[in-house]
Amino acid sequence: MVAPNAATRAGHGGPDPGRQDGGGPAHGPPGQTGKAMTDDAKQNFAALKAGGMLPSPRGVALAVLELTQRNDTDVKTLTHLVQTDPAMAGRLLRYANAAHGGSLRHIASLNHAIVFLGIFRVRQIALGFSLVDHYRSGACRQFDYMGYWTRSLATAIAAQQVAVQAQCPPDESFTCGLLSGIGRLALATVFPAEYGELLAAGLDAGALRAAETDRFGLDHATLSSELLEDWGLPEIFHQAVRYHEQPGDAPYPAGSRVQALTNALHFAAKVGMLLDLDAAQRWERLPSLYHAAAQLGLEDTEVPSLVDDVLTRWQEWGRELQLPARDFSDLKRLLMAPADLAGEHAAALPVLPMRLILVGFQADGCQAMLATLTGLGLQVDSVADPAAATGLLGERGADIVMVQLPDCGADAARRVRALCAVNGGRQTHCIAVIPAEAEAGVAALMLAGAADYLTVGHTEAALLARLNAAQRVVTLQSAVRTERETVIRSSAEWARSNRRLLQEALTDPLTRLYNRRYGLDRLRQEWSYASHSGAPLSCLMLDIDHFKTVNDRHGHDTGDVVLSQVAQLLQHNCRKDDVVFRFGGEEFCVVAPCTPIQEAIRLGERIAAAVRARRYGANPAHLVVTVSVGVACLAAGDRDAEALSARADQALYAAKKAGRDRVVALSRTPA
Ligand code: GH3
Ligand code: MG
Ligand code: MG
Repeated sequence: MVAPNAATRAGHGGPDPGRQDGGGPAHGPPGQTGKAMTDDAKQNFAALKAGGMLPSPRGVALAVLELTQRNDTDVKTLTHLVQTDPAMAGRLLRYANAAHGGSLRHIASLNHAIVFLGIFRVRQIALGFSLVDHYRSGACRQFDYMGYWTRSLATAIAAQQVAVQAQCPPDESFTCGLLSGIGRLALATVFPAEYGELLAAGLDAGALRAAETDRFGLDHATLSSELLEDWGLPEIFHQAVRYHEQPGDAPYPAGSRVQALTNALHFAAKVGMLLDLDAAQRWERLPSLYHAAAQLGLEDTEVPSLVDDVLTRWQEWGRELQLPARDFSDLKRLLMAPADLAGEHAAALPVLPMRLILVGFQADGCQAMLATLTGLGLQVDSVADPAAATGLLGERGADIVMVQLPDCGADAARRVRALCAVNGGRQTHCIAVIPAEAEAGVAALMLAGAADYLTVGHTEAALLARLNAAQRVVTLQSAVRTERETVIRSSAEWARSNRRLLQEALTDPLTRLYNRRYGLDRLRQEWSYASHSGAPLSCLMLDIDHFKTVNDRHGHDTGDVVLSQVAQLLQHNCRKDDVVFRFGGEEFCVVAPCTPIQEAIRLGERIAAAVRARRYGANPAHLVVTVSVGVACLAAGDRDAEALSARADQALYAAKKAGRDRVVALSRTPA
């Protein structure tokens, strides 16, 4: 478990923690005020907790939490416990198979699922789902409990979909997303009447947070963060949750894992919100969704299918958890198509050259209409049936379709629907022309997608009025589309530059390896996972021998070349899952997940031999270089990741002392 005082300790740390300080990024804004705020929030949280009303896991989930908090939890006892709650057992199996990705055999036994997920993750899943089960309703009349969980579920799935960008394992991302808004539920639970009043005031997000702090001593985001910490979830979760609503205010270094997770949760919450809104409101949120995506380095073209995947999985999980997940069959299209239009901006619009297709008009009746239409400057095509019109729409597109229909029956509605469904993501403005006696049933055609109608024998004035209305809509659509394209195009460029910046922030400029900050972040992450799951973890520290001599004899520039060459060789000799980074100067570090000490020693030997075998420098490469390697693995009693890297460092020192160009392992009892 993460140390209960982790946040307080981190509060004293600087924004760019080194090896010795042991702290992550600060919780509050840096400086005295931040610390004072953090302390206040902690006191207020402690008071809330003492009241005993905060949401908390119950039943078997609570027992799982308690059991897994002990150091000696074994899979057998945990399996027995989970078996007493069939719903939880089913979800764990489903979860394990989803995380498993279907690449191997299906996981059919609970025991296997628990081994696969690891005790630490079972704990998180039990916690999340227990809360979903037990807080579906409550006393706060203004708080929509089911809506809250439905949105949280969508947020969780979206967070899981962007796990790569979040630099977090997918299932951990899911839990973090699911619980990211838990402070809202907590306020509704503890203060049903007072929180209800605040909600009824309809404040915007910033004003609501301010009002919450004013009334309750801490806002929902801070409360979410405190709860996650109290439940023993990883430090990075509560740090990210605290700032995910305003990632710009987070005091975390750009490019750090915690900032990446903060940005990912920000995006995920926007997806959660999007799925909860109706189509017109959704349009308004689109620019900010694309903005949040770009912040994560996701380009606009990646967003529609990502959100569509979230939607599918949301519905599956919604059924599983009996939460109402809506069906938006056209969501992907909506993300790519212009919004529903409001008439307010209709005045003073420029006149556009419009294309129009006439469908199914008799040749004689059509001639007069054609003359009128072309006389107005419209480009007109006339086709016999909807199939031909569909072909033409696909080929060249059109702004307006006028279709002659015999009545307003089911077949006519089908034709209208077919015509409205094509046009490359744009809404075709469809005008139905029907016999006067069918007018009573025209609503069916409107429902099928027709924008307007005329009756056979209409006057020219009526036709002009319809075209006028059509033109306003088409012009507005075009303006909206242009605006949307501008927003999205700029977000795409921004996404690319963010991706580059993010990459730069993580990379050492000389060797192109990961830099120390990223490497230490990953070491902490792997340490946290390994120390909870029981998986082995090794750390190798490497230092070039007598490197000063290389600089002294051949110049600093040659020294730089040698450093880059050694770095490349190092990367080349490690596995994909190993994290190789420049620790500083001519010192490197390899974090090797799932690697016991013997295997890590072999890796060290392989690297040392490869370095020794090559020649370095340029024109031609002729210099001999060796490295000393210190190896250590995760051990029982290690307090934190720094204890592991310090032991690898001691081993490195021993290798130097013993004559260099060798590997020394310093082992304590493995965990
Ligand atoms: P030892 O075997 O004990 O490690 O000896 P050493 O000479 O490698 O160690 P020492 O710490 O005395 O010297 C390290 C040298 O590495 C000194 C420093 O100038 C050089 N160095 C550190 N970073 C860079 C760099 O980016 N480029 C170059 N060219 N040299 C660097
Ligand atoms: Mg050296
Ligand atoms: Mg050194």
